[in-house]
Amino acid sequence: MSAEKEAEAGKIPELYPWHQENWLRLRQSIAADRMPHALLLTGPDGLGKAQFGVAIAASMLCTSPADDGMACGQCKNCHLFRAGTHPDYRRIEPEEPGKAIRIDTIREFTAKEALTSQGGGYKVIIIEPADAMNSSAANSLLKTLEEPVARTLMVLITSKPVRLPATIRSRCQKIPFTVPDHKTATDWLAPQIGQQDATLLLRLASGSPLQALALTQGDALKVRSAVLDEFCKVLARKTDPVSVAARWNTLQLPQLLGWMSGWLIDLIRLKMVPATENLINRDQKERLQALALAIELKALYALLDKLLDATRTLGSQLNSHMLLEDLLLTSVTIKQRNARVDSRIV
Ligand SMILES: [Zn+2]
Repeated sequence: MSAEKEAEAGKIPELYPWHQENWLRLRQSIAADRMPHALLLTGPDGLGKAQFGVAIAASMLCTSPADDGMACGQCKNCHLFRAGTHPDYRRIEPEEPGKAIRIDTIREFTAKEALTSQGGGYKVIIIEPADAMNSSAANSLLKTLEEPVARTLMVLITSKPVRLPATIRSRCQKIPFTVPDHKTATDWLAPQIGQQDATLLLRLASGSPLQALALTQGDALKVRSAVLDEFCKVLARKTDPVSVAARWNTLQLPQLLGWMSGWLIDLIRLKMVPATENLINRDQKERLQALALAIELKALYALLDKLLDATRTLGSQLNSHMLLEDLLLTSVTIKQRNARVDSRIV
């Protein structure tokens, strides 16, 4: 459940262990009466930035926060916050995921009267994802940031800060989130995943603990195995790449491209050093070792380049079916025919 849904469902969100440093720094700003008018929470997805933002909002609105700065959960303001009816808390988000945040929405929430607290305390406005603002919405917000209202805090959240105008970025205090160290991540993840391999899950999730946990909750790992089987069959020319592309086109493209780049990075690593302990896909090492023997390094780099180009265009109006066909048809050509290797990978 997302942080905002949790807040709506009556919970004050908790912080994750890797949030502590940022939380402490923010509390120092508050204690020194240096709370900025706008915060910019940045960093990869899957680190709980939204949850952190909601925790800030709850804390700023709470009348008797705990010693660690977290909202008490009991006062009148906390009750209103938990009920999702606090008049001094607003979330601005696209009407539908993937759509833009428009100027009308920004204007509605950032008009002078809308920025003034009704309860006499703070007003907190979260904008997420902030990079979804179109340029006129961003310009409108910029005006608000240039003439801030006292005791109003704007919290902008994004994993793509470069998509925000530099003028907006420079008017916010940045709170960067980075993937936690391996111990912090595994200490949090391991108790929640039973016998599953925490290291493998974290590597597949590029170090993001929340995404690693999410992998265990749906059928993503099964899908990963199935697409790797198909990819190997394509390389061994034992299946038709065009029909595989049609099948893959029904899957989640960002995740699929992520899986593929993980295999290619592992294959490149294996071409350079035979050691397998640092592989992302460490559960697939025998298969990848066999493949690495039959593919030229240059071909792997070429395919990885193509894949990274495709990843960069994600979110734009691309024809995903053609893109997958192109990737798979290129893949067919990179492996030399070798019956002995084929028997180990398929
Ligand atoms: Zn409270």
